[in-house]
Formats: sequence, structure tokens, C-alpha cells
Amino acid sequence: MPPPVTRFAPSPTGYLHLGHVVNAIYVWGLARARDGRVILRIEDHDRRRCRPQYEAALLEDLDWLGFVPDEGRHPPARQSDRPAVYEEALARLDRDGRVYACDCSRQRLGGRAYDGRCRTRGLPRSTGCGLRVRLDDEPSGDLLVRDRDGHWTYQFAVAVDDLRQGVTLVIRGQDLADSTSRQVALAGLLGRAHPPAFLHHPLIVDASGRKLSKSARDTGIRELRAAGLAPDVVVGRAAAAVGLIATPEPLPAAEVGSLLG
Ligand SMILES: [Zn+2]
Repeated sequence: MPPPVTRFAPSPTGYLHLGHVVNAIYVWGLARARDGRVILRIEDHDRRRCRPQYEAALLEDLDWLGFVPDEGRHPPARQSDRPAVYEEALARLDRDGRVYACDCSRQRLGGRAYDGRCRTRGLPRSTGCGLRVRLDDEPSGDLLVRDRDGHWTYQFAVAVDDLRQGVTLVIRGQDLADSTSRQVALAGLLGRAHPPAFLHHPLIVDASGRKLSKSARDTGIRELRAAGLAPDVVVGRAAAAVGLIATPEPLPAAEVGSLLG
């Protein structure tokens, strides 16, 4: 297997917490263990929730932790830097006759798989309509690529970016495992001969088994820094929380490759 190209892709919609550090350990750990590369990508496709101060803070925290990307740090690579790539990807899907307008509300779908209601309605592409791409044989239904407010969706934006940046290994939390088949299907429609490989890692859960909350005060990197913890102590704590090491020993970011070799 050739050395992987993977990515660390935080959203500037909040501060980094231990859950991000777990993801970074897997991303850098696997890349370093296999002689691969790490791309940093700022996932700011959701313009409503992103804030410049969060981006500055996450870059500073990442530097402090010691996770050094091979690409995308100086200057930071943002999704918003290249708006044309999403339009181009949409145009490709459009040429294949796979894109249609959809005015279904979230309330109507009620969290269920999309039932294809608008596939044959021929709705005009006006404001108030989202855009979907037809994915045949996909149990979760046709994928929303642009929402009713004109914003690209997460699923679409990351598939386009992973293709454009040559990402061959996607490393993410188990909570996203359900969307993998759609990512693979979309990659094929976008023209990828080989979809990226996907690796899903454990998440930190609290005592009641719930996924770590972003608002948890004792897991924010800012808070841990303010409390006087050293970077290797924070990385070790995250590694121990998902069982990569037995006890929370200090672990420098530069050595995470030894955990996953
Ligand atoms: Zn619809």
C-alpha cells in the first residue's frame, strides 16, 4: 500500500477539545507510522456558524499541542478559499443529469432517509429550494448537496475537497461511519477511480456512555492549558481516554506514530 495522504479537518465553529485530540492522534499517528502526509483543512463551509476567532484559536491550540501538518498550515487552507471547486463539482453531476431541486423541509423528512419525492417534480432552482444528487441504490436516499439557504452541505464539501487534495485515507470518528457509503458513492460520481479508504476510530464517551460534549468544561484545550497542563499531558490524556494507552502518561505529539505503527 502506498503511503497515505490523510487530513485533519476541524470546523471553526468552536474551540478544540479532547475529542479533536483523539482524532489528531489517529491522523498523525497513522500518517507517521506509514510514511504518509497530513493535510490541515479548515472546514468552514457553514458560513453561518464559523468565526475567525475560533479559527485563530484552533490553529494556536494545534501548534501548542505539537501536531504539525505537512500542508495547509502556512497559510491555512480553508474550504472558503476555493468556492469555484464546489460549483465545478456540481456542474459535473449536473451534466450527468443527477441534480434536482428539492423543497422538502427537515420537518417533513423527520430524520428519515430521503424518499425521492422531488426527483420527478421538475422544481425550478429558485431560492428556498435545496439541491440533491441522485444516488442509486443508497439506503439513506439522495444526498443534499446545497441546502435551502444556498450553503454547501458537509457531505458534499468534504467529498469534493478529498478528491481535489488527493486524500487517500479518511480518518474520523465512529459517529460518522453511517455516511461512508454515501461518501464512496459520491466520490465515484465526482470521477474518482478509487474512493479513499475510511478508518473510524473510537470516541471519548462520558460516564453514561454519551459522546463527549463540546461544551464540557474539563475537556476544552483552552481550559486545560489555562489549568497549567503541558501539551504532552493533554495528548496522553486523550490517548488513554480511548484505550490507546493503558494509563494517561505524557505523550508528545511527535511520538504518536509509535502507538499506531
Ligand atoms: Zn424533496
